[in-house]
Order: sequence, then C-alpha cells, then structure tokens
Amino acid sequence: MRYDIALNNLDQSAPYVRSQVERSEFLVAVTGAGISKPSGLPLVEEQVGGVALRDFFRPELLERDPVRYYEIYREWVIRWRQAAPNPAHYALARRGVWVVTQNVDGLHRDAGTEHLIELHGNLRELVCRVCRRIFGSLLAVEQAGPPRCPQCREVLWPGISLEGQQVRHINRAMDWAGRAQVLFVVGTSLEMDPVRRLPAVAEENGALVVWVNTAAEVILPRLLSFQERTSG
Ligand SMILES: [Zn+2]
Repeated sequence: MRYDIALNNLDQSAPYVRSQVERSEFLVAVTGAGISKPSGLPLVEEQVGGVALRDFFRPELLERDPVRYYEIYREWVIRWRQAAPNPAHYALARRGVWVVTQNVDGLHRDAGTEHLIELHGNLRELVCRVCRRIFGSLLAVEQAGPPRCPQCREVLWPGISLEGQQVRHINRAMDWAGRAQVLFVVGTSLEMDPVRRLPAVAEENGALVVWVNTAAEVILPRLLSFQERTSG
C-alpha cells in the first residue's frame, strides 16, 4: 500500500502510519536531496559556483577542466562542512531506520544512522583512479588547483559516483527494501534507475510505502517518535 504524506494530510494519515511503524521491527528509508534542503544544502537544479549541481555529477567538466571543477568542488565542500543534520535525519537515526541515500553529504552518518548505504558515495573522500588510494576531501581545500595523488601525480576524483558510473551496493539496497515492513521515500521523486525500483520491491513484499516529499523535517519526527505509553 502507498501513502503520500504532506502537511495538509498529516493529521489524517499520521495515526495509521504511526500504528504501522510501532508494530514494525524493520524500517527502511530511501532518501534524496530534499531531506537535506532544510540543512542548507542545494538541490541538483541549483547552481554552485555558476554551475548547476547536476553538471557537478557528470564527468565531462572534470575531464575537460579539472581546475574549474575543483573550484566548484571547494565551494561545495566548504558549504557541506557547515551543514548539520536536521530533525528529519535525526528522526530516522533515533528510530533505528536503515537508510539508503542518494545524497553525498554525509548528514545521515552525522545524525548517527548506523545502517547506511550511500549509493553515490560521499564528499568526504577523494580517490586516485590509478592506485585506488583514498584521501580526505580536505586535501582539495588545502591546495590550490586540482588535488593530485602524492604518489602517482594523477588528478584525484571525488569519491562520488558520477553520472554513467554504477551506483554502489544496489543489491544490498534491494535486499533491505524487500525485507522492510515500512519503507519511507523521503525528499526524492526516484526518477533514476535502479533506485526507482526500491518502492515496488518493498510493496511486492507487503510493505507499507510512505512517501514524504515535502516538510520531512516536520513530518518524520511526528511519524517516528515513540508515543508516550500509559502504564498498565
Ligand atoms: Zn595514486
């Protein structure tokens, strides 16, 4: 069964969803950029450093103009380092919801989510494509110009999946979705394959699928906080 929850139907839907949440042992959330927007992070349509974020996720700019790419990278990494999780991230973490995220901002980890799949990697890391060594993103902030592997002298790549590259751990994500009793889809319209298949996998296995596409920072704490129980 599918539920779409927004502020205007929250009062109506919340009791039923809460009752399902309370009797469920395994909850999973699939999240996207919308959950991090209240934390001050941009959506893919927005521009950072004069370039649409969407293009930041494509390899063309990095291949063509690594200097420019890393100017934007620095701007984004600095903005990301100032961002903190919001009540939506915390509500998922506190309830022990397992999270599959398309975000690279690391905010689920900062909120304390223990079981986390970052399908597109994360901004904390840089990778040498020759020797496969991983470096912290600060390396790109501290040096001028594109960061290079100290050993191979290759320009490092961000530790995120660029468009056309495979998303990571999708089989594990499918397994989680198939076992979920309630699956939340938060802040994403799931337009991309293969992640768009996750709700269907959950539904086929009997899960309640709850879509929260706006105001997750208000709605998720309402749906996931434990109800005060009267004794006896
Ligand atoms: Zn290297």
